[in-house]
Amino acid sequence: MALIVHKYGGTSMGSPERIRNVARRVAKWARAGHQLVVVPSAMSGETNRLLGLAREVNPGTPDAAAMRELDMIAATGEQVSVGLLALALQAEGMAAISYTGWQVPVKTDSSYTKARIESIDDARVRADLAAGRVVVITGFQGIDETGSITTLGRGGSDTSAVAVAAAMGAAECLIYTDVDGVYTTDPRVVPEARRMNTISFEEMLEMASLGSKVLQIRSVEFAGKYRVPLRVLSSFTPWDINIDEEARSGTLITFEEDEKMEQAVVSGIAFNRDEAKFTVVGVPDTPGIAYKILGAVADANIDVDVIVQNVSHDGRTDFSFTVPSGDFQRVSDLLKDTVVPKIGALQFTADPRICKVSIVGIGMKSHAGVASTMFRTLAEEGINIQMITTSEIKTSVVLDEKYMELAVRALHRAFGLDAPANLV
Ligand code: ADP
Ligand code: ASP
Ligand code: MG
Repeated sequence: MALIVHKYGGTSMGSPERIRNVARRVAKWARAGHQLVVVPSAMSGETNRLLGLAREVNPGTPDAAAMRELDMIAATGEQVSVGLLALALQAEGMAAISYTGWQVPVKTDSSYTKARIESIDDARVRADLAAGRVVVITGFQGIDETGSITTLGRGGSDTSAVAVAAAMGAAECLIYTDVDGVYTTDPRVVPEARRMNTISFEEMLEMASLGSKVLQIRSVEFAGKYRVPLRVLSSFTPWDINIDEEARSGTLITFEEDEKMEQAVVSGIAFNRDEAKFTVVGVPDTPGIAYKILGAVADANIDVDVIVQNVSHDGRTDFSFTVPSGDFQRVSDLLKDTVVPKIGALQFTADPRICKVSIVGIGMKSHAGVASTMFRTLAEEGINIQMITTSEIKTSVVLDEKYMELAVRALHRAFGLDAPANLV
């Protein structure tokens, strides 16, 4: 008997019939003798609908007070889901109870709309499990020290599930979703993408941080920090498939590098449309420029991603960086009202229509020339590269958004990822 955490995403929870299927699958695991904690997301489209309502009543750029209310609103989607799933489990003859984040409690910091989990008190959940109940806990939400409801950022139910698994020392955390594992790239963009049986933790971390929405980045960070065995698998297999077969399906995130993984130089391609590029033009080229520009952005709690400072001419230089698209307006306001006048720059330009495409692979550590293959492939397609950034196991380029799919497909082919599965 093991303690297992299941997480079900929005599509998997998308209708009463699907929720009943989730309940049947969970019941199958519980009847096999396992203790089950289940973390569902809001029903698909629900979080967008709720945030859309919020925008209708207050279209302005949300300040801190407004962000608190956004979390109050968005968190309700998951509250409905846990109640429905617990009810569906009861209809299956299982003892089940649901909790919101604040009831557990899942304590977070106060960064509304992107809060971080600080601690989880599992006493109540353990008591229910010991009493033979399936426990259903909301994804995506928690409570801060002032008692306000917080949310963990889009896709945050993955992180809730892994954090619960870590806090409770679960034997495994199974992330059930609408694809049957982690692919070499998003199979909705490249139909030739291949599912991987395993992916190393390091690669998964890069893929997630570079835009592969299959797992929220923080869930992978948690899994790494607490060594939570993590598997991504389909919620659309028949609910009554053999449980051992189900337990081996999908993609396992592994913590040890093995020889097979060494063979793949590039194991995956990630992309992200949700970034915007800013260029501060004609900045006086004096020490401290980066700090003056990016310090102001960081103080507003906005994450900066790719950064490029150009060669200076006549004592002035251009400085470009990217931020999440959701922060576009705030960064525009910040540059216009404070940064540009304060540092004596000439002006700034803003481009929301960019994308970032990245190649990821542990094998890049020991292979030269991988980046040049990437640049050649993009050149052959006539795609102009606006920015480049590299680390040991990834190379990212910033491109005009209109080239995104073309670039991803061309790179997928160029690095041999279209080929039939032969690595696993
Ligand atoms: P859920 O609602 O279950 O959390 P998400 O939509 O957040 O599901 O994540 C699953 C989606 O991630 C898939 O439908 C797929 O389009 C997308 N995706 C992006 N990159 C990958 C990848 N490398 N492998 C698998 N799926 C990916
Ligand atoms: N419901 C939230 C979202 O849509 C959290 C999640 O699905 O993981 O982002
Ligand atoms: Mg998700």
